[in-house]
Amino acid sequence: MTNIAFIGLGNMGGPMAANLVKAGHRVKGFDLSSEILLAAAGYGVAPATSLDEATADAEAVVTMLPKGVHVLSVWGDLVKTVKPGTLLIDCSTIDVDSARRAHELAAAADCISLDAPVSGGTGGAAAGTLTFMAGGSDGAFANAHPLLEAMGKKIVHCGGSGAGQAAKICNNMILGISMIGVCEAFALGEKLGLSHQALFDVASTSSGQCWSINTYCPVPGPVPTSPANNEYRPGFAAALMLKDLKLAQEAALGCGAATPLGAEAAQLFDLFAKQGHGGRDFSAIIEMLRG
Ligand code: NAD
Repeated sequence: MTNIAFIGLGNMGGPMAANLVKAGHRVKGFDLSSEILLAAAGYGVAPATSLDEATADAEAVVTMLPKGVHVLSVWGDLVKTVKPGTLLIDCSTIDVDSARRAHELAAAADCISLDAPVSGGTGGAAAGTLTFMAGGSDGAFANAHPLLEAMGKKIVHCGGSGAGQAAKICNNMILGISMIGVCEAFALGEKLGLSHQALFDVASTSSGQCWSINTYCPVPGPVPTSPANNEYRPGFAAALMLKDLKLAQEAALGCGAATPLGAEAAQLFDLFAKQGHGGRDFSAIIEMLRG
């Protein structure tokens, strides 16, 4: 059993903390929202009234926060009080530079640290089937592994500091681009009189196959579990896809990588969000692409 402080108990952090409790760990939680803290108490997380109180006797701290600025602020505060040797794991999706700065804060306080963003969404968080993409030392990865196992199914050590965030934004850039490609193909097929099922039957078993068509088909019918069959309720909200595409563009700009399709995908999701669709599943972008 490990004493864990869990900071940020929102849509993702809440169910992840609940799975740590289920695995037998003692979890103290802190969130700026008192309603969220109250809900966390309902699934066995001991609510703390401050960050300090949550982390006071923690052997490990997990953060699940909106952006890099929040992670740096929370890590900047908690490294002043936690014991040397404490394991710090950030599971938020943030920019690579902030992730590396967070590792530096931890190292300066003799803590061990891991960036470990996730994929799998709120469903994966609840079911404990998330994929973790981890960046940090071999030692930090080995220490964190049993905790990550309680919250996820697949755990990949991607490299040193920031490598988890790098893998996450590269993966989601592929996803954003491929979804737009699949949506364009279905929109074109419709205009050519091709049925959704016929295009699916061909493309899902031919060279066009990819997750965006085989598992998450953006039209209703061929894949009954995809959000298209459920009025595009997320799933994975378009606003979160936009966030990840923007992080990828920021990173590409910073290191001089050419990502023209990533840039185009970011612009299209930005337009989609500005039209008021940020809360819908990202595959709903097919409606905008139909024109
Ligand atoms: P959320 O907004 O539901 O939760 C974030 C929580 O952090 C909120 O409850 C907020 O009150 C709390 N918070 C903010 N600043 C804080 C502080 N200083 N101290 C304590 N608590 C603070 O967001 P979410 O959907 O749970 O996403 C969290 C992270 O996970 C984001 O980086 C997101 O990009 C990433 N992510 C989300 C999903 C998803 O499907 N929701 C999937 C993969 C990754």
